[in-house]
Amino acid sequence: MKTHSAGNSATNGLALIVSLTLISLFLVACDESGSSGACSDDLLPLAETPPAPPAECPSPPTPVSSTIEAQISAIQATAAEVTDTLLDPDVITVVTCGTASPIPPRTRAQSCTAVFVNGQFLLFDAGDGAVPSMENLNFPLPDLTAVFLTHYHSDHIADVGEAISRSWILGRRTPLPVYGGQAVERVVDGFNRIYALDYNYRTAHHGESLFPPETTGADARLIPDPGPIGSVVYEENGVTVSAYTVDHSPILPALGYRIDYEGKSVAISGDTIDTEGLRNMSQGADVLVSEVMNKSFVEDAECAFGRLGNEDNAAIFRDIRTYHIDVEELAELAEDADVGTLVLTHQVPTLDDEAQIGLVFRAPISAIYGGELVVAVDGTSVTVPVN
Ligand SMILES: [Zn+2]
Ligand SMILES: [Zn+2]
Repeated sequence: MKTHSAGNSATNGLALIVSLTLISLFLVACDESGSSGACSDDLLPLAETPPAPPAECPSPPTPVSSTIEAQISAIQATAAEVTDTLLDPDVITVVTCGTASPIPPRTRAQSCTAVFVNGQFLLFDAGDGAVPSMENLNFPLPDLTAVFLTHYHSDHIADVGEAISRSWILGRRTPLPVYGGQAVERVVDGFNRIYALDYNYRTAHHGESLFPPETTGADARLIPDPGPIGSVVYEENGVTVSAYTVDHSPILPALGYRIDYEGKSVAISGDTIDTEGLRNMSQGADVLVSEVMNKSFVEDAECAFGRLGNEDNAAIFRDIRTYHIDVEELAELAEDADVGTLVLTHQVPTLDDEAQIGLVFRAPISAIYGGELVVAVDGTSVTVPVN
C-alpha cells in the first residue's frame, strides 16, 4: 500500500512564508553522538501547508471508488494473511528478500535476509532494491523490529535509509534499532540526517498524530568486536542474536550473525571467506544463509575481460576472489558443521537459468554437502518449526 504524501505545492504566486513557529517545533538538537533518532538541526524552512479539501464522500460511492475499495480490501486481506504467517511464533521463517551480488546483470535486489522469529521481524542488511522487494513480498514493514548490518559495502546498506523511512511511514512508532560494528553510528547518523528533511515535510503536511516527529529515524547500536567466538548482541522474548567476526579483508568491521530460539538456529554469513567465525556460527545450525562465489567461473570471467582488453574489470574479478567463499569451501564447511539447510544468497555469479545454476552451484556443492541445498531467489522462504 503506497502512502506517499502528495508534494506541497503552495507556491502559486505566494512568496514562500517562513514559519518561525513551525521551524522551532522541529529544531531538535542532534544527539551528541549523532547516533540517536533523526537529527534535525539543519531543517529547511517550510512553506505554509495548504488547507486540505473537505471530506465529502458521496453515498452511495461512485463506481470508481467502489472498485478502488474492492482492490484495497483484497490487498489488505493478502497482507494480513502474510503477516499472520510470518509472525507465527511456532515457526521461524527465513526469507531471502535480496539475493544479488553487486555484479551485473541486476535482475534481483541486493543483500537482504529477513528472519521472522517469535513475532519479531529481524532484517539482516538492506542493499539496493531491498525495500521494494520486501514490499512486493507483503512484509509487515511497520513491525520491523531491528536491523543488523554485516558490513558497510553499498550492496549491503544502500536501502537502509528506505527501510527506516518506509517502516515509519507505514506505521512503525519507535525509533528503529540498527546494529552494526565500528562506525555504525556514522552510517545511521548519515541516513538520519538525509531523511530528516523528509520526515519534517510529512509531519508538517499530515500532522503530528499521523507522523509523530519523536518516532522518526533509527538508533545506532554499536557492536564491539565480538571475535570469532561471538557474543550475544540482542535478547528479546527468548530470541537471541549473536554476532561473530568474519573475514572479508580488507573490510573492517565484518560480521556474521546467528539467531537462536527454542533450540533452533539460523546463521547469516555476511560477506566472508572460510574462517573461524563462520564455522562457529554455522555449527549445528538448522539454516545457514551464506554468500557464495564460484571462483572458477570468476577466473574464467577475468580471463575473458583480459582478452577483450578490459584490464580494469579483469583486475576487479581477480581481486574479488580474495574475500568471498568458494562453492567447494562452503560445501565442506556446511558438511563439517552439520548444517541442516544451506541457503545460497549473494550469488556470484547471479544466474537465472536452471541448467547454469546446476553446473555452477548445485553440482559442486551437492558433491560434498549432504544436507538440503536451496539456491535462493528473491522471495525464497525457508521455515523451521519450533516445538
Ligand atoms: Zn562485501
Ligand atoms: Zn556484498
